Amino acid sequence: MASDGGLARFLEAAGFERVEGEVEPEYGVTMLLAGGGGPLVFRVRGAPLDAGGNVVSARERVLQALGASSDAEAYEKLLRAMSSPEPLRFTGAPTLREAPRGLLDAPAVRFYEGEGGPYLTASVFIACWRGVCNASVHRVMVKGERVGVVRVVPRHLWRLYREAVGEGRDLPVTVVLGVHPAVLLAAASSPRLGVFELGVASALLGGLEVYESPVHGNPVPAGAGVVVEGWLTRETAPEGPFVDATGTLDKVREQPALRVEAAYYNPDGVSHVILPAGREHLMLMGFPREAQVWEAVSRVVPRVHAVRLTPASGGWLHAVIAIEKNHDGDAKNAILAAFAGHPSLKHVVVVSPDIDVDDPGDVEWAIATRFQADRDLVVVREARGSTLDPSAPEGFTTKLGLDATKPLGGGVEYEKATRIPGRGLVRVR
Ligand code: MN
Repeated sequence: MASDGGLARFLEAAGFERVEGEVEPEYGVTMLLAGGGGPLVFRVRGAPLDAGGNVVSARERVLQALGASSDAEAYEKLLRAMSSPEPLRFTGAPTLREAPRGLLDAPAVRFYEGEGGPYLTASVFIACWRGVCNASVHRVMVKGERVGVVRVVPRHLWRLYREAVGEGRDLPVTVVLGVHPAVLLAAASSPRLGVFELGVASALLGGLEVYESPVHGNPVPAGAGVVVEGWLTRETAPEGPFVDATGTLDKVREQPALRVEAAYYNPDGVSHVILPAGREHLMLMGFPREAQVWEAVSRVVPRVHAVRLTPASGGWLHAVIAIEKNHDGDAKNAILAAFAGHPSLKHVVVVSPDIDVDDPGDVEWAIATRFQADRDLVVVREARGSTLDPSAPEGFTTKLGLDATKPLGGGVEYEKATRIPGRGLVRVR
């Protein structure tokens, strides 16, 4: 059965906890979501509809959103959807109501000290220009009811925007909040230009119901909670500072201004607030990249056991990859493939399948007992890095790969050996 692509529908299935009373838009949402836990539904003071938070902060919820029972199955599903998107199913529009305070009603939320203003963080930008449609996630710094500034990294939306600007036009955009996590994951993945991410979501969800947005006629997931029609204008304004995935303040940049034409909400939908640097932020950004690393490394080693973009690195800069080897050189090839699969990756540790990639202590143990720097280290100087890394000036970074796998035929001295007869392996730390 096709999905309406709404967050409300997903929350009904996944279950959630309702927060009583109203949550303050200034730092109150931060305090609420920083507490972690499962999906929450709450009302930000002044907003005309509820919002969800911590929806997919747990990996199991991501798997649930993708209808998968393991990471490998979810990666495969996402990769297949990216290469084989499905058509959208057009339906009639739901009854939309006008949001009286425009972007503020989305709702706009102030998260941390030192940021440039209140933000929208779960905002999916849908744009079609000259026959190419694109959906991608971009934060919006809200300057007023009808004005925002949008961080547009130089990828596909940027390209459509530049083409429009080159023709002396503003780019028509439809901004939606409160969509199914599969739609967010599709929008956060990077299929080639020309593959519409809503089609990727349609493949993930077994069909995606959309309607034509009221002003621009852009396809909108039928269950979206908030729909904003606007223009990514030729005017620019300072955007930021903003706390990004690494938990550091991203710098101020001159970015395109968003001018709002009309803002609506769906009374049967909910909006969505993603806590910057929170687990949900990391999961939504990182999971599609894990899939790409998994695919790239799978091409060069017999089997990839697990891939993790680690939470401490913003779910972005560091990876731990557990592999099975046929040859002791396989781990170094895995390192090179991982850098190719996720260009923002900075440090990668490759381990054997007996290491728990979710346990930094286990990974450190592998480095302590299986790694020699003169033999097992790969250093790539001055490669393209991530703009999220404050220590990478101009985006140049030095990449580091550690082969901490146990050698083939390495013998018993490489094995975990805190065993007791009849009990097997005992955790002693
Ligand atoms: Mn795209």
